Amino acid sequence: MEPPAAAAENGAAAVANGGAADRHGGHGHSHGAGHAFATQAIHGGQRPCPTTGAVFPAIYTSSTFAQTSPGVHQGFEYSRSHNPTRFAFERCVAALEGTGLSEADDTTCGAFAFASGLAAAATCFDLLDAGATVVCMDDVYGGTYRLLNGVRARTSGFTVVRADLSDPAAAAAAITGAGAGGAPAMVWLETPTNPTLKLCDVAAVAALCKEAGALCVVDNTFATPALTRPLELGADVVLSSTTKYIAGHSDTVGGVLATRSAALAARLRYLQNAVGAVMSPWDAYLALRGAKTLHVRMARHCANAAELARRLEAAGAVERVVYPGLPSHPQHALAARQMRLPSAGPRPRAGGAAPEDEPAFGGMISLHLKGGLAEGRAFLEALRLFTLAESLGGVESLAEHPAIMTHGSVPAEERAALGITDGFVRLSVGIEHVEDLWADLEGALQAAAAASAKAKAAGRGRAAAAPLATAVL
Ligand SMILES: *Cc1c(COP(=O)(O)O)cnc(C)c1O
Repeated sequence: MEPPAAAAENGAAAVANGGAADRHGGHGHSHGAGHAFATQAIHGGQRPCPTTGAVFPAIYTSSTFAQTSPGVHQGFEYSRSHNPTRFAFERCVAALEGTGLSEADDTTCGAFAFASGLAAAATCFDLLDAGATVVCMDDVYGGTYRLLNGVRARTSGFTVVRADLSDPAAAAAAITGAGAGGAPAMVWLETPTNPTLKLCDVAAVAALCKEAGALCVVDNTFATPALTRPLELGADVVLSSTTKYIAGHSDTVGGVLATRSAALAARLRYLQNAVGAVMSPWDAYLALRGAKTLHVRMARHCANAAELARRLEAAGAVERVVYPGLPSHPQHALAARQMRLPSAGPRPRAGGAAPEDEPAFGGMISLHLKGGLAEGRAFLEALRLFTLAESLGGVESLAEHPAIMTHGSVPAEERAALGITDGFVRLSVGIEHVEDLWADLEGALQAAAAASAKAKAAGRGRAAAAPLATAVL
């Protein structure tokens, strides 16, 4: 996977950038690498502007940058290739994901921001040649599924092999190419998955990928680098939809890739510029502003979700609660090992979680209501504080119906196999007061129970037969 000649061009720009970085909120080397996560979130890749003293990077809207002589500039030529606001956010993500790269290795230390999470995914797939085999977690974000099967299978001739990578035997079979499709060039994990909250053992899968010579990519949108840092566990590339927890305020759409490998960073830099699906300076500003409080928000998301999951599990109208923090979750032990809130102590240098880190299981809860569509509808329509909306990871609580909403593009048989039934509801628990959230859920559970009684009285036939809407994403 040698970067072609054009990447060298980009490399030259990167070197030129080193000089300019000091004037635009960057820093000359990867200082602060030993700082705790909370400190990295606020200071990672940042320093006050040497010209004005501004403690927060400016929003540079300029599309182009003046040159004093042809090819002589301060490291910034054109905003698709180089934008100071985007660079500031990218360097912050590099610090949070622990890329370990300095600006001498890569201008933005191995992190790359895109116009959306899917734009980041699309550019990541461009690391592969036409005809590649991609092994993909069976339960992935609906849009990733659509991009692979609806677009890249056709335009890039990808063979897409879906496998339950949360199952070590299935993961080994798929990655070593024993299954259909042959040896994969890329393995795509999500952990926890959306929406069934299965976990993949990143270290174990990354080790299998290394043996098989496949790139290991982890979509870390749900856990965020505050809880899990896949690069430190051996993944080659980590992806986050910054639309979700990293920006965290439901006011911007974006995505980011990060890598520890200087060679992959060079290739991703080339692709980011060549494909051009870059994050705008406005979005980079919002994403950076959000990232600075990621650790504080995640602590509250996790605490609220843990409490609500515990109470939901005891509630009458609920068949089953899926939350990695509950002992009833089949992978609770893996979750406790792999998902941890960083402590105030020093960040481990050699990977893995520091022993004093606290297990914390994220802000997403999935639940199976007793009954089906009638109960799901009644529950979601009765919510007042939780907003019925797609997306997740913002400060406000959201609820949605995956079968109709986010995962409408996944074929019905595959949804059924994954357990995404008509009574299946996904909650994104925000950072409101937990008692207000619980009061809202209690009211909605009562509405679901009432709908259940009504459906039973009416003989259920009609509601159960009501057709589900198709692809809404
Ligand atoms: C939302 C999401 C994406 C896609 O991100 P966009 O910013 O919506 O393009 C990818 N993966 C996961 C897990 C997501 O939740």
